[in-house]
Order: sequence, then structure tokens, then C-alpha cells
Amino acid sequence: MVEIIGHKKVKKQLEKTIETNSIGHAYLFVGKNGIGKKLLAKEFAKSVMCENSKNLDYCDNCDSCFTFESGSDFKIIYPTKNVIKVDEIRDFCSELFLLPTKSKRKVFIIDDAECMNEQAQNALLKVLEEPPLYATIILITANKEKLLNTIKSRVIEIQFDFLTDDEIKKILSMQGVEWTEDTIKYASGSAKKALDFIQDDIFDISKDLAELLIKRNFLLVNRKFEEIKADKKLKSNISAILEKVMQIFFINLKNDISFDYKLIEKTEEAIQKIKRNANVDLALDSLMIEVCKF
Ligand SMILES: [Zn+2]
Repeated sequence: MVEIIGHKKVKKQLEKTIETNSIGHAYLFVGKNGIGKKLLAKEFAKSVMCENSKNLDYCDNCDSCFTFESGSDFKIIYPTKNVIKVDEIRDFCSELFLLPTKSKRKVFIIDDAECMNEQAQNALLKVLEEPPLYATIILITANKEKLLNTIKSRVIEIQFDFLTDDEIKKILSMQGVEWTEDTIKYASGSAKKALDFIQDDIFDISKDLAELLIKRNFLLVNRKFEEIKADKKLKSNISAILEKVMQIFFINLKNDISFDYKLIEKTEEAIQKIKRNANVDLALDSLMIEVCKF
């Protein structure tokens, strides 16, 4: 099983339903975005579908486990442009009524379920009223107020708590992402929010930096480097920033034959120095000197 950080209470609750063979036909996973609801829904689905599983775990060695994501017994639907239309729900329901092919159960998930419009929710209601015996439907939402009461009265609601700061730190570290206390504060209980926060900043500054380097605007390049040196979060993610700069260089290299390859060489040298634990300020200063030379 994939390691899921946090949500002890929910995991215990789901585990019990598998152990006692009392798996429900419809669940509503409720909680803030980016805390692991979908991940846990998938793990739960795989466990209830596995031929050998007796708890919230699976064998990874049976027909059902082998075909889990590619087979027809498991499905996730997502909104397109924030809407899940009635036709999609009708297709979803007709597929659900076909007997499982490889697994003992069929598990269908609707992510961001609040994006179903009223018609779509009414179409789903029909299947929630009389679901096939082998079926489990999991609705995932951060906004349950937008779901019809008639839907909410037919599902088992599972409430997910915010992640603690320590849990978010653990998730980020597991993904090799550097964080600062500011990131954790901003995340307010959501690992996805923390990741977006780090990655958005990295993307913006990398794009600016690459453009300035390509234009040889050394005054502004220097200013950006100083900005990075002074910002703890950016500085701790300097390797990721320079890697992104390199990606932008390679795109330019493909489209522009006059692109100076030395920019790539020198940036790569700086990345290697930083990876070998060189002082970041010195590595950036030396990159600045090198690129001014040509
Ligand atoms: Zn299995």
C-alpha cells in the first residue's frame, strides 16, 4: 500500500468496513482540497477489489490488482472546465451496471463531485437509490453544500481533517521538496496548497531569470540573483529553479539556432556545484561572472 500520511481515524474506519465485510455502496469523502482524499479513495478501492485483501491493503499479485487502473472495474471521473455533465453521469451509471470482469467489486469514483450540475446529480440519484450489489461509489468533495440533500442522505459521509504541520512537512520531504516555515503556514492544512505555493514561485522566478539571461540583461539578472539569495524559500529551492531555467533554455535551443550553448553549460555547472553543497551565494556569483564573459 502507498504510504498515506495522516487521516488515522478515517483509515481505521475504512479498514473496519473491509475486515467486517460491510463495505458500503456509496461514500462521500469530505474535506479540504489537497489533503489526500483521492489517494485514500484509490487505495480503499484497490483493497476492496483485491481478491486476497482482508484489510486496507492489497496483494498487488491478483488479477484485480494487476488490472486495477486499466481495467473496467475501477473508474474515476473528473470535471471538465469545472462541470460534470448529465451525459457523463448517465454513461458512468450504465457502465456501473455491467457486471465486474476481473474483481469481486466495482468501485467508481467521482472527483470534485460538487461540479455535477443539478441534472447530473439527479441522474446519479437513480443509481444511489438502487445500486448493484457489487458496486461502491465514492464521491469526493471539498464543497458538500453544493450537493443535493437527496444525494447526501444516501451516502456514508467520511470527514477528513486538515493535515497537521508535521504531516505536511513529511509529505513534502517524501517528495523531495524543500520547505520553509512560511510555506507550511501558508498551506493551512493542505499539502497540495504547500506544493502549489512552492512550485508557482519557482516557475515564475525561473521564467523571469531565463528570459533575462537569454536577453543578456545582466543588471536585472543580478537583481534576481540578489532576490533569490535574500529569500529563504527561493534559496533553498535554487537547484529546482536552475533546473527549470535549463528546461526553458532547451526549448529556446530547439527554436533558435543562434542560441548560445554556453548559457546551458554554465548553468549546468552552477547546478552541479550546488548539488555538491557549494555555497549558493558563491555559485550564483560565479555564474554571473561567467555569463558576463560571453
Ligand atoms: Zn490483489
